Amino acid sequence: MKVRVIGGGLAGIEAAYQLLIRGITVDLYEMRPVLNTPIHTTPFLAELVCSNSLKSEDISTAQGLLKKEMSMLNSLVIKAAHFSKVPAGSALAVDRMKFSKFIEAKLASFNRFSLIREEVKEIQPFDIVATGPLSSSSICSNIENLLGVEKLYFYDAVSPIITKDSIDFTKAFYGSRYNKGTDDYINCPLNEKEYYLFCDELINAKTVILKNFEKREIFSGCMPIEEMARKGMDSLRFGPLRPVGFYNQVNEKPWGIVQLRKEDNYDELYNLVGFQTNLTFTEQKRVFGLIPALKNADFVRYGVMHRNTYIKSPGNISSNLNFVKDERIFFAGQILGVEGYMESSIMGIIAGINMARYINKKPYIKFSTDTLSGALLDYVSNYKGDYQPMPVNFELFENKITIKDKKARKLAYSNRAMELINQHIIEQKINDDIINLR
Ligand SMILES: Cc1cc2nc3c(=O)[nH]c(=O)nc-3n(C[C@H](O)[C@H](O)[C@H](O)COP(=O)(O)OP(=O)(O)OC[C@H]3O[C@@H](n4cnc5c(N)ncnc54)[C@H](O)[C@@H]3O)c2cc1C
Repeated sequence: MKVRVIGGGLAGIEAAYQLLIRGITVDLYEMRPVLNTPIHTTPFLAELVCSNSLKSEDISTAQGLLKKEMSMLNSLVIKAAHFSKVPAGSALAVDRMKFSKFIEAKLASFNRFSLIREEVKEIQPFDIVATGPLSSSSICSNIENLLGVEKLYFYDAVSPIITKDSIDFTKAFYGSRYNKGTDDYINCPLNEKEYYLFCDELINAKTVILKNFEKREIFSGCMPIEEMARKGMDSLRFGPLRPVGFYNQVNEKPWGIVQLRKEDNYDELYNLVGFQTNLTFTEQKRVFGLIPALKNADFVRYGVMHRNTYIKSPGNISSNLNFVKDERIFFAGQILGVEGYMESSIMGIIAGINMARYINKKPYIKFSTDTLSGALLDYVSNYKGDYQPMPVNFELFENKITIKDKKARKLAYSNRAMELINQHIIEQKINDDIINLR
């Protein structure tokens, strides 16, 4: 049996590796350099399109824990990252060329592996689709045919997401405008002075440089908050920061109100409504921190606006990462609606293992939602709200730990998750079918 992995990015190479070490033949299709994306600049596999940092290795962070879970599942990305590591404090940063070369050499060392430099236009059974946020237009059309047009999203124009426990509730309150509806929103008032200071800093903050195609396509769609603010110092007060309808809930008449809307099934994460932005991440923390209730906000994701193709996975993709309507087709990586290098890689690992188990007629692997792998799978397959790309964070866990001290709580989350992954590996014999680990 031969599997076609479509896309030689982080997810595709992880999926290919998991299949190869289990003795399954893989044809990996990568369209570059025959057809390039607007962002990639090399023909290499697993090109890191932006930062060379894979973020923290500290086990008390979600990114550190995810790396540990990936290692336990024999991640090729983690092996390559350690091989090509460059000094970066507690972060795992890599020499990107060495990183890609290690991966290419490792895959090429399997005689069941072929790399085909060709664009795939049509998906077929026994494919793993890992074409990423910049999937070619032909494969996007094919995915639309498979899933339905309204199930494929092209833009990631999202507001920042923060944790609920980092909001200062002495300065914020629950409530809906004119007391209509339920108390689903958290409201963060600003007085006149705070409002104008915020607008001034917003207008002058550093932004990321947009590619031409992004400028063209984003601005016709939805406007970044800093652009809105540039239209006039009061424009936000008549837009997303409209203060009307709350006069009874606060002592002082607010000059502007930032609304936060629930973002997850467990009521732990909130997004800043209408705050899609091109501000750099550091500037988002600084400028949005000028909103009094958000002075110490913990951002689990920052606002971004760039081309990002992803499918509406909940309802269409199962927690095994295969297509609900045809279980022989798997999806992996950012196209599923996860966000980030590591999040995409773990989805590749799981899709690869599960395709191997499907071929070998073994039950799919299952992860507890108290592991990051399981929590992410649950988000991808079961999320009930407005589906937006999600990076890993501890708020995604189903069962909360209530230790007061933040660092101790995070460590407890990590220890629990690692223990669970270990149990899964033993009980479900996840690594027992590996015949050729390199
Ligand atoms: C502008 C930008 C900046 C980013 N910056 C960061 C960052 O700093 N940190 C971070 O963690 N994440 C960042 N991301 C997200 C990151 O790129 C992804 O999380 C990650 O690369 C996704 O991995 P993937 O394997 O799903 O997709 P990719 O790594 O994009 O791999 C997909 C591959 O599929 C190929 N392909 C596409 N269509 C076809 C086809 N039809 N046939 C054959 N091959 C095809 C592509 O050429 C590509 O090589 C950024 C994304 C973008 C767009």
